[in-house]
Amino acid sequence: MSLLIRASRIHSAGCYTTAAIKKGTFIVEYTGPRISVAEADTRYSDRPETYLFGLSDGKWVIDGDGIAAFINHSCEPNCEPEEVEGRVWIVALRDIQAGEELTYDYNLYDGDEEAPCFCGAKNCRGSLYSAEELRKKRRRAQARKLSKRKKKKSLAAGARPQRPSRR
Ligand SMILES: [Zn+2]
Repeated sequence: MSLLIRASRIHSAGCYTTAAIKKGTFIVEYTGPRISVAEADTRYSDRPETYLFGLSDGKWVIDGDGIAAFINHSCEPNCEPEEVEGRVWIVALRDIQAGEELTYDYNLYDGDEEAPCFCGAKNCRGSLYSAEELRKKRRRAQARKLSKRKKKKSLAAGARPQRPSRR
């Protein structure tokens, strides 16, 4: 496969194909050592940029070290990752022309940081997090707001009887 890394409009460097690719092609493997989720958390806790790819078992992540790790996210991607027996491949979602930048939807999960998206797609959801993760985050934020409100209310209620009466 003729892939190359160069500056990208989406984000720093991206992965481009110099040849046309047919829909369904297994383009490149997402290579790298397998590390546990816990180890990834400690190794990269204070690094904003990582090349981690979570495997579907939820226990292991690939610490990307190959060309696939340079592939940028897009909300309207031309590729998708496919896991086959513990290996992850980047597969063409449609016919891709020579010169196109390869992209797939990162569907990030499990992160604390903001991950804004600048892919420029019409249907851009504004974030690299998956739609499901964004829903979860909104629910958690809502729950925090509610519990704060409750706390305030109960404090106020608790304080009332102690207020000295002036009459
Ligand atoms: Zn986007």
